[in-house]
Order: sequence, then structure tokens, then C-alpha cells
Amino acid sequence: MSGARSILVSGAGIAGCAAAIALAERGHAIRLIERQEEWAFASSGIFLYSNALVSLEMLGVLEEILAVGFVVPEGRNRYLDHHGEPIVTTHYPPAEGGRVPAIVGIKRAELHRVLAHRMSQVGVEVELGTTIVDLVDGAESVRVVTSDDEVRVHDLVVSCEGLGSPLRQHVAPGVHASYSGFGIWRSVHARPGDLTDKIMQMGTGTRFGIMPISHDRLYTFGTVSDPGKTWHERADWPRLMREALAEYAGPARAFLDELDETSDVLYTAVDEVLLPLPWHRGRVALIGDAAHAGTPFMGQGGAMALEDALVLADCLEDADLEAALTLFEEIRYPVCVYAQDVSRRVGESGARSDGSVTEREAFAAAAQGAVDEFYAQLDRLRGQQAPGR
Ligand SMILES: Cc1cc2nc3c(=O)[nH]c(=O)nc-3n(C[C@H](O)[C@H](O)[C@H](O)COP(=O)(O)OP(=O)(O)OC[C@H]3O[C@@H](n4cnc5c(N)ncnc54)[C@H](O)[C@@H]3O)c2cc1C
Repeated sequence: MSGARSILVSGAGIAGCAAAIALAERGHAIRLIERQEEWAFASSGIFLYSNALVSLEMLGVLEEILAVGFVVPEGRNRYLDHHGEPIVTTHYPPAEGGRVPAIVGIKRAELHRVLAHRMSQVGVEVELGTTIVDLVDGAESVRVVTSDDEVRVHDLVVSCEGLGSPLRQHVAPGVHASYSGFGIWRSVHARPGDLTDKIMQMGTGTRFGIMPISHDRLYTFGTVSDPGKTWHERADWPRLMREALAEYAGPARAFLDELDETSDVLYTAVDEVLLPLPWHRGRVALIGDAAHAGTPFMGQGGAMALEDALVLADCLEDADLEAALTLFEEIRYPVCVYAQDVSRRVGESGARSDGSVTEREAFAAAAQGAVDEFYAQLDRLRGQQAPGR
């Protein structure tokens, strides 16, 4: 490689942990800081599709992920109408000739536990409760003051700070996250032993999903259109989730009926980051949601963050930092923007859904083709540069 660099990674979410592992494994000196005082994950579960799992394998953690997560048999996704009547069953594609499964559900906290364990194996420690308070981006180095009063000089700062990244203002002043118009309700439940598939129920302007995340838990999610970005009192979330998705029968019904004030319910008003290139300025680079947060309808944000981390680490083999960061962006921009665009279109089509028979028949006829085309296009856009190739 070109020579070890001193790299500050800010933010220890999926992108930050993955970048820290990939960069440390390539011999760079990594400092990883995280704003939170202690690990806390305001989320129930996360889907990891085959491209995320390929990246996790490259980070050396696939086996652990498969041990704690839930592998959906044959990548099966059953679509039902809001009564619970079948519409169509699709299959997500596995990777690496079937060796890497198509889709795994996992508790977000478990994903981070696994990544944190891997970080300790490669010698990366997270400094919790620490943020950047001042940064001077120079020609030869970047001087950073952190909230623990440390002053250090690095070759590169990588912002993995997510949607609200303060460092985005250094790279692209004035570019902030914007509201997508969608809200997502989520809840966690005990998993009936025979519920092993991903299930999507289609309602009128809404969707209701059910996803196993471990041997004994599943999570549900309801997607709603909310152009006004309504603010909801947290104590009301269980009741409001029940009301927003009241039309659902079939498998959704039992979980909606379970919701009461003791339930583990989360409401997220979904924001996006739409940032044209460049995603870096001087010695500061953005990856993951900090650069390209999207809506969650394709379940690809985490996968994109993982791929970013691995591609960045590969690109930084180049001795010329500007060339390395420019190459990173050329590789990643088309892929991330495609995933963002498709996800937004899926959300919009769900919001327009009128629940008619004609619409369901058209959906059933096109569903598997749409899944296959999405993953084929991701592969085409990544070309030979994709992780795992
Ligand atoms: C409702 C919903 C459901 C989703 N479901 C899925 C799914 O099923 N599958 C999937 O792949 N993706 C999913 N996503 C997307 C996924 O959550 C994100 O794309 C992913 O978490 C991005 O990772 P990240 O590390 O870039 O950002 P984040 O996960 O946001 O991590 C950012 C980290 O930086 C820290 N931080 C913030 N500011 C600072 C600062 N100033 N200094 C230091 N640290 C800082 C934060 O505390 C956090 O730990 C979903 C998103 C939403 C909203």
C-alpha cells in the first residue's frame, strides 16, 4: 500500500464502525470518536440484504451476524393485501453462488455489538461522548480539536455522522437533510415459531411489513405518507400506530392488537440527504448517511454505508489523497443515488396505492422482475469495483 495514514473517523454507526475496521486492517492509524455517551440504538431491527452481507463477510463478521440474526428461508417475501389475502411471493437474490444468504433480519444493537467486537480484534477503540469542536483543513494535514480538549493532526477526517453530520457544512455549506414526506412506525414482538418469511401487506396508501430478527423476536413496520411532518407525543405512539394502520387484518392484526403503552414502538419522520458531488473537500470526506441518506423502502442504507467503507479503504491505497477521494466518489455516487431514487419511487408508489384489484394484479406481474432488475442494476453500476469482486 501507499503508506499508512492517520485517519480520524467521526461517528460510530454502521459506516463509522465498518470504515474503522477496513482502514485499520489496511494498516492505517485510526481514531474513532462517537457523540453518544454510551451505545444506544433507537431502532428495533434492520434488514441486511445479500450485498450488505457480502460486505460484512469482507469485514470478517458474517458468521457472527448469521449466528445472531435470522436468515429468511430462500429470501422469501410474501406480499398480501390488507385483509391478508396472498398477492405474490418474491425471492431476493443470494450472493456468491448462494453461499451468502439473500436477506437476514437482525436487532440493530446486535449488529453494532458484532462490529464493536471486530473493532476490538483489529485494535480500534471507540471514544464515546467525543465530538469535533474545531477543525483546520490544511494543505499538508488537518488539525482537529475534540471535545475532550485533545488537539491532534491527521491526514484525513472521515465523517460517518449520519443525517445531521456537522462536517457536511465543511464539505457542502448549506446542504442539510430534507424531509421525505414519509413516516415509519416500528414495533417489536415475540416471533411465532412458524413466522419465518418477510411479509409485506399492501393497504390503501400504506404498507405493513413483518420481519423476523432473531430466534424469538420480529419487528413490524408501517409506512405512511405524512407531508406535514406531524409531531407525535411519544406516549401516544402505540395508540397512533394502531390507528394509522387500523385497516389491516391478516398477520398484521395480532401484532397491532398487542400494542399498548408498554410496547416498544418507534416513530421516525424520514429525512434524506441529496448531495451532489463532491462528497469531500480538502482532507474531509463524507460517507454513509452523511453523504446520501435515503428513504428506507429498499432497506439499502446500511448496505450502502458498508460498501462505502470498503471502497473508501480500497481507494485510499492510492498515495494521492485527492485522487483517492475523487475515485471513491466516482465509484459510489451512481450506486448510492440509484438506491436512493428507487427507494423513493417505491415509497411514492405505496403512498399512491388505492388497493384495487387491477393495481394488485399489475403489482404481482411485475414484482419479481423489479427485484431482479434492482439487484442486477446495482451490480452493473458497481462494475468490477464492488466489494467482494
Ligand atoms: C426507519 C428506518 C429504517 C431503516 N431500515 C433499514 C434497513 O432495514 N436496512 C438498511 O440497510 N438500512 C436501513 N435504514 C437506513 C440505515 O439506518 C442508515 O442508512 C444507516 O444507519 C446509515 O449508517 P451511518 O453510519 O451512515 O449513519 P448512522 O447510523 O446515523 O450513524 C451515525 C453515527 O454518528 C454519530 N454522530 C452523529 N453526529 C456526530 C458528531 N457530531 N460527532 C460524533 N459522532 C456523531 C451518531 O450518534 C451515530 O452513532 C433505515 C433507516 C430508517 C430511517
